[in-house]
Amino acid sequence: MQIRTQVGIIGAGPAGLLLSHLLHREGIESVVIESRSRDYVEHRVRAGVLEQGAVDLLVQSGVGERLQREGLVHHGIELRFGGHGHRIDLTELTGGRAITVYGQQEVVKDLIRARLDAGGQVLFDVADVSVHALESTQPRIRFRRGDEDVELQCDAIAGCDGFHGICRPSVPPGVLTAFERAYPFAWLGILAEAAPSHEELIYAYHERGFALFSMRSPSITRLYLQVAPDEDIGQWSDDRVWEELHTRLETDDGWKLNEGPVLEKGITGMRSYVTEPMQHGRLFLAGDSAHIVPPTGAKGMNLAVADVHVLSRALTAFFKSRREDLLAAYSQTCLKRVWRAEHFSWWMTSMLHRFPGDDAFGHRLQRSQLDYVVGSRAAAVSLAENYVGLPLD
Ligand SMILES: Cc1cc2nc3c(=O)[nH]c(=O)nc-3n(C[C@H](O)[C@H](O)[C@H](O)COP(=O)(O)OP(=O)(O)OC[C@H]3O[C@@H](n4cnc5c(N)ncnc54)[C@H](O)[C@@H]3O)c2cc1C
Repeated sequence: MQIRTQVGIIGAGPAGLLLSHLLHREGIESVVIESRSRDYVEHRVRAGVLEQGAVDLLVQSGVGERLQREGLVHHGIELRFGGHGHRIDLTELTGGRAITVYGQQEVVKDLIRARLDAGGQVLFDVADVSVHALESTQPRIRFRRGDEDVELQCDAIAGCDGFHGICRPSVPPGVLTAFERAYPFAWLGILAEAAPSHEELIYAYHERGFALFSMRSPSITRLYLQVAPDEDIGQWSDDRVWEELHTRLETDDGWKLNEGPVLEKGITGMRSYVTEPMQHGRLFLAGDSAHIVPPTGAKGMNLAVADVHVLSRALTAFFKSRREDLLAAYSQTCLKRVWRAEHFSWWMTSMLHRFPGDDAFGHRLQRSQLDYVVGSRAAAVSLAENYVGLPLD
């Protein structure tokens, strides 16, 4: 079976779905293909912090109604170390900007609904996806859907299939250069049915390792612990997780962490990765398929949103005015923001985690950096403007 569309999009994560939605608003057709089921992608718990620019884009493009109703707007975060909390007032330091806590799976649900309500094609549960003729003006995507072999003919392909997808590896050898950093730790994350015991996120630097307190709703808390990269989750009973969280997060002035039933528990590796360029012929990589950040800076989903904002504009100029310049500049445009986010994520990670083998000198440097960030307005402004995100345009 053959299908024809203007843009073939591989992956129904935040990048692929938002791209399809933005293109539809410009009257450009696309088909999204996804290897998982709708139920799976709508319940995959991952990121939860949206930058101001991402929120504005979702609202302006008509998919922000539930986000505005249910998202939790935060005007600050806390850095906690030495037994005390230090608030960074994001809104005051950035001239009125803020972040919104809203689960990635909720963004995905809103986008799928918007696409399907508008008659858009999102094909779930496809298999054996491959891309062809990338250097031609008519690239193709082949896949299996049920018992059928399908070929999707298009003018451009968006590779929005995440870090482990097929698009990046399909680029011929020698075209892409990878820049990478691995970290000697991972995050053990839990989702718990417990009312958040603090209104804002808490980033804790502790001698036993980093911990993060965050939330997803007024009744759900999301918590993370720095653990070894090869940590066996079987060794972490719920009781052990809570005990370690209490130790790393609680303060000398009596702040206590609320406990509740653990709904989900998992370990996430930490990695920085960028591929350059983010395009080859008529294939354009967006989101995690092109770059990964450690989650400490809360940038992963936001970078995916920023990439497809740029790509949707470039594709719009191409289809409406036959302009190729924005498409040609896609990678260069995105990489500027990508590298800023890479640096910020690496910097937050380096400041807040215990590095195995690091000595007292290293720990003193980290404390000095933390003292500087909470004590100097200039340093706090720098953290705040990166955290809420630089403007999308
Ligand atoms: C376990 C985990 C936890 C995370 N936690 C955080 C966090 O706390 N904070 C944070 O900021 N970021 C976090 N991130 C990062 C953030 O979730 C990502 O940056 C974000 O999902 C990027 O969106 P995307 O659309 O580019 O990719 P994805 O969301 O990965 O979407 C890619 C889609 O492509 C599909 N796909 C893959 N291969 C194929 C194929 N061959 N054919 C068709 N479809 C395919 C996948 O099923 C998926 O639906 C986390 C990531 C992971 C993996």
